[in-house]
Amino acid sequence: MQLNIGGLTSFTTIDFPDHLAAVVFLQGCAWRCPYCHNPHLLNINKKEDDWEMLRTFLEPRRGFLDGVVFSGGEPLLQSGLADAIKEVKNMGFKVVLHTAGANPHRLKKHLPNLDWIGLDIKTSFKNYPQITGISDSGDKVRESLMLVVDSGIDYEIRTTVDPHFFNRTTILELAEMLADLGVTHYALQECRTIEGYQVEHASLFDDSALRARLKSLFPSFTIRQS
Ligand code: SF4
Repeated sequence: MQLNIGGLTSFTTIDFPDHLAAVVFLQGCAWRCPYCHNPHLLNINKKEDDWEMLRTFLEPRRGFLDGVVFSGGEPLLQSGLADAIKEVKNMGFKVVLHTAGANPHRLKKHLPNLDWIGLDIKTSFKNYPQITGISDSGDKVRESLMLVVDSGIDYEIRTTVDPHFFNRTTILELAEMLADLGVTHYALQECRTIEGYQVEHASLFDDSALRARLKSLFPSFTIRQS
């Protein structure tokens, strides 16, 4: 197994809703979103296999943690992910995947072993290249979205609201498009300022009419603020 870990959060109640989980941040992502909060994870720059380190970390936490979240970077890029998921499940943990949806074929292979999925939808599919810098990225994400929606697995679709790319109208258009495609669980996330990338927070999250409309589309709708 080859697993390249760039970070580990030992305990969270946020990344796997209603569960206690550890988060494993895997290295590597082919995209370059301007607001990425994990730029140190974008390149796979480790040679050694970190599986034994993760197994040693998880072993004493059996019965305490409910699940393990594989996040990134883009975890689907890791060749050892399938084996890691199987091993983690064999240890008795539930498995969660956080993905940006760039690799629908790989996602499809992992679906039978997942207990929860967090899928980022960054913008309308046609506008994806503006954020990712990759021409066909929206098509891939649309494919991934439909796999998740049709999978029967619990999930959350979430959008990071960067005011450089969104206003009230475009958020609503995106949300309505997602609802039309069958999405039932949706969240917005605040985009944070990072070094070299300033985000002026719009009043979008204080817009009660917008929140009400989103709640009517998705009864479980929530806003995550950092
Ligand atoms: S897809 Fe995620 S990890 Fe990759 S560059 Fe964009 S925000 Fe960063």
